[in-house]
Amino acid sequence: MTEELLVATHNLHKKEEIQQILEGEFLVKSLTDYALHDEIVEDGLTFHENAFIKAQYCYSKTGVASLGDDSGLVVEALDGRPGIYSARYASDHDFAQNIAKVLDELEGESNRKAYFVTVLCYMTADGPQYFEGRVYGNILTENKGTQGFGYDPVFVPDGHEVTFAEMPASEKNKISHRKKALDLFLDHLKNRV
Ligand code: IMP
Repeated sequence: MTEELLVATHNLHKKEEIQQILEGEFLVKSLTDYALHDEIVEDGLTFHENAFIKAQYCYSKTGVASLGDDSGLVVEALDGRPGIYSARYASDHDFAQNIAKVLDELEGESNRKAYFVTVLCYMTADGPQYFEGRVYGNILTENKGTQGFGYDPVFVPDGHEVTFAEMPASEKNKISHRKKALDLFLDHLKNRV
């Protein structure tokens, strides 16, 4: 029987993306599948701490191997902001306002370097294990493109001429921070004894 993996999300899209990547390794379940409806308070001070909080919550409730994730945008000239506050930098999940705040803070700044990061925490009886993916690039001075979400319209990944929001999802998903972290997790699973 295929082993279950509980992913700390209610987002069906995220669950299905992870299921596709982990096909054959795990049967992926979400918080909704386990009827876990408590709000998970992400009060960690790092991506690692927040990923741990989510994975630990799921594991402690179910005893099923669990995956927590935390992602965000880290801007060099802003001392790493918005960082763990990416989703609610100016306003909770209002992407336009969050982008506007970053662009405002970068006004007149020539160093536009930034990266997206995803940290995964895989929790089992053996304790937590972490997998981190990053994609480096630059922040534009205005929005370009309509695909994707979050800070995609202002982020041009290194080696590309267009923003994440101007790429088809299939292209972004090949090079994204999330994909890199999931690939490392998959390598780890394949090398398990
Ligand atoms: P989460 O931890 O995956 O929910 O991501 C937290 C926040 O980081 C999101 O609400 C976005 O603002 C930002 N973010 C994470 N990944 C991406 C991405 O791939 N593109 C744009 N923004 C992202």
